[in-house]
Amino acid sequence: MIPDEDGAIFKKLSNGWVPYSILVGPDGKVILWESEFQEAGFSAAIEKLYEEPAEKPAAPEPALKSAPRRARPWGANILILGGGAGGLVAAYHLRRKLPRSHRVVVLDREPNHLFQSSLLWRAVGLRRADQIQRPLADLTRKGVEFINEPVVQIDPQRKQVRTLAQEIDFDFLVVALGAELAPQEVLGFDEMALNLYDLEGTAKIHAGLEDFSGGKVAILVTDMPFKCPAAPYEAALLVDSFLRKKGVRDRSEVHIFTPEHQPMPIAGPAMGEAITKVLDKRNIQYHPLFTFEWISPGDQTIVPSSGDAHEVDLLLAVPPHRAPEVIQYSGLLGSSGWMHVDPHTMETEHEGVYAIGDVNNIRLANGKNLPMAGVFAHYEARVAAERITAEINGEKGKSSFNGKGYCWLELGGGKAGFAAGNFYAEPEPSVRLYPPMRPWHWGKVLFEKWWLRHWF
Ligand SMILES: Cc1cc2nc3c(=O)[nH]c(=O)nc-3n(C[C@H](O)[C@H](O)[C@H](O)COP(=O)(O)OP(=O)(O)OC[C@H]3O[C@@H](n4cnc5c(N)ncnc54)[C@H](O)[C@@H]3O)c2cc1C
Repeated sequence: MIPDEDGAIFKKLSNGWVPYSILVGPDGKVILWESEFQEAGFSAAIEKLYEEPAEKPAAPEPALKSAPRRARPWGANILILGGGAGGLVAAYHLRRKLPRSHRVVVLDREPNHLFQSSLLWRAVGLRRADQIQRPLADLTRKGVEFINEPVVQIDPQRKQVRTLAQEIDFDFLVVALGAELAPQEVLGFDEMALNLYDLEGTAKIHAGLEDFSGGKVAILVTDMPFKCPAAPYEAALLVDSFLRKKGVRDRSEVHIFTPEHQPMPIAGPAMGEAITKVLDKRNIQYHPLFTFEWISPGDQTIVPSSGDAHEVDLLLAVPPHRAPEVIQYSGLLGSSGWMHVDPHTMETEHEGVYAIGDVNNIRLANGKNLPMAGVFAHYEARVAAERITAEINGEKGKSSFNGKGYCWLELGGGKAGFAAGNFYAEPEPSVRLYPPMRPWHWGKVLFEKWWLRHWF
């Protein structure tokens, strides 16, 4: 036990919300150093440790380099796994850049693309499911093939993926499978929590809010990392607006429980302070560093590892996020628990295989990870598409991901804030926050409309 009254030690050994996990080999060398605990990544690193004779140095991460390849002027098979934010953008740019003699194929287990940002509007009844989805089969109009099947195995050596129905060969592969939601890992989730991150859960949240006549609403972040660091805060503010409009806010409490030490820790203390002020002003009770353990449906409580349980009438929850199972089964998991890529080119260690969006893990200069966000999936997809095109044409790819991104922060009542910055800046990301106003909200609405038209 070390006294740490001013939090100096915590700040040094943590990234702001959890301590770093550090694995040291018998020779005293650091094998794994990460700010999120991913059991799968840890297990892989520990297994590796036992494979090596103790006197040998720990194996470094395989070097990522682009192997020179011959031009393939016609007939390349480019397979994109996942028709979410990243997959859609990659397909669009590849199809635009390459002649039709090359096949561009998107494979997704779902028939529809879902614009996930709008789930928050759906939770408060501002969108129907059909307004925030598009059939992936519509991609065929643009010359992109679509296969509606789940991928069950990826073999980068044989350059083949397997679905339940077929084996598909590829010359280039873009893995854009996102993050898997794992509510089943939380005891009591299914019985009591409503999933803020999927279509079914947000429909139930809307129904629950419609029936709500007063009491305690809580937004719970069960685990880190989670996609869109702003989303739980936006959800709380939208719920607050909904309850005010309904006339039951004075009979209600709105709470946020999260393991983070401040809102959006990756964006720095100024951003955290600004959001905390907005929460205060709207009388939303904030519980940072909440050490969540489990949900107890019997007495309607959420239970921390220490301290009192909190009774809740309506529980909106962000489930744990994991790398998709197929990545784990195919041995493509890096020690971080996600796929390892070159942070500028999105290449993996396997020739012709790229990984973009939430499925990859990019470590920033300050030791934190690039957040999971659609904006990064979008820009990474463009880079992967340009590099694949260049390789096919026998050229050297020049496009490079620069870590720049932006996001809107929906405040409810037709207002939003906006933040933009460079996450690759050193030593810390540099993110600027623009004050809330109505035009930002309209910007977000227009972006949604553009997104759902542009790629199809
Ligand atoms: C509520 C909410 C609000 C958000 N708001 C914002 C925001 O304002 N700004 C922002 O930048 N980001 C936001 N995000 C995050 C953003 O949506 C994601 O970061 C982004 O969608 C990631 O893109 P992706 O292509 O990596 O994965 P996804 O878009 O998740 O796509 C993955 C695709 O892979 C498919 N798939 C998975 N496994 C398999 C399999 N085995 N076989 C076949 N197909 C499979 C899935 O069906 C899915 O279509 C938000 C997310 C949520 C949930």
